[in-house]
Amino acid sequence: MVVQYKCPGCGADMHYDAKTRKLKCGSCGRLMEIDAMPRSSADAGTEAEDSEDGEISPFAAEEIEDEAEFGRIEREEGSTAFDGEDGCQYVCNNCGAVVVTTADTTATSCSFCGAPVVLGDRLSGKKAPVWIIPFKVNKEQAKAAFRKWCGGGKLTPRDFMTADRIKNITGMYVPFWLYDMEGTGEADCTATRVRTYTQGDYICTETKYYHVYRRLHMAYCKVPVDASEKMNDGMMDKLEPFGYGELTRFNMPYLAGYLAEQYNYDDRELLPRVTERVKRYANEYLASTITGYSTVAYNRKNIQLDPVNARYTLLPVWMVCYDYRDSEHIFAMNGQTGKIVGKPPLSKQKIAMWFAGISAGVFAVMRLVTMFLA
Ligand SMILES: [Zn+2]
Ligand SMILES: [Zn+2]
Repeated sequence: MVVQYKCPGCGADMHYDAKTRKLKCGSCGRLMEIDAMPRSSADAGTEAEDSEDGEISPFAAEEIEDEAEFGRIEREEGSTAFDGEDGCQYVCNNCGAVVVTTADTTATSCSFCGAPVVLGDRLSGKKAPVWIIPFKVNKEQAKAAFRKWCGGGKLTPRDFMTADRIKNITGMYVPFWLYDMEGTGEADCTATRVRTYTQGDYICTETKYYHVYRRLHMAYCKVPVDASEKMNDGMMDKLEPFGYGELTRFNMPYLAGYLAEQYNYDDRELLPRVTERVKRYANEYLASTITGYSTVAYNRKNIQLDPVNARYTLLPVWMVCYDYRDSEHIFAMNGQTGKIVGKPPLSKQKIAMWFAGISAGVFAVMRLVTMFLA
């Protein structure tokens, strides 16, 4: 079921506007509060389906031919599009073109007319997100950051800069699970305090031994784990932290104009990953409570963790992915905080020219270069 948001004023397509945090008409600029929109896909569906029924055109048969054509081409390319339980095709309400998606896509835009399209049935039932952090960094800001990241072309190879990769910047909602975990930690240690002092001609070393015991109750809230197969886990971890104070109850209009994907791994499948992560935090915390000693040796340590909640959440990321000279480069930006992850390609020649051209301020250049190469 395709959900598209039409401007009540002029009928043009509306998209989520990060600046005003409302739905905005791309044509007349009209704004609409998202809280006023129906929350569940079922509610929105009645409206969208009604209008679909009302627009049966004499070209319907021809369009079906087109659909079959597109579907077949997709499958030949070895993609998973239209596979599995979501075995239906989506048609743009605007222009009647088939909306080509992978099986995981939940929001995209029509590749023919560009209209924002939200796939409502893929966002319902078990696949309905609980929370979302809507985009706060808008496309213009993301583009400016990407340009700056490339150093304005000063250190990046020329053919990289001329390729105008900025056009491919994509705002994407990445599926996450946010876990609440509770646990207990217990540690039994032997610790020492060593003191050295001089007495006459002697250097004395005094070692005192302590028995240290800790038993802690721990609670970790909203620990995120990336639930998408396609996203690089390490990179997603680096995009953190997200400000969970701005978690909003999910509603479909937030997706209008962006790309969004379903989770590939459910909360049970990712439990080992979150447990491992929280265990690391718990270990660090436990260790941080035992301070002021010269040495600490654990006789016994036990950390027990139990999941309490897991909530399906969509988090905003701006991305540019590209191959450059046989290696993959990624620019990714936290769509809420603006934090950037990734490394631009560097031109060795340009760096050398930089060195040659600058006699003063070498230290500053060194710092800059090490920063880029780090
Ligand atoms: Zn309008
Ligand atoms: Zn269209």
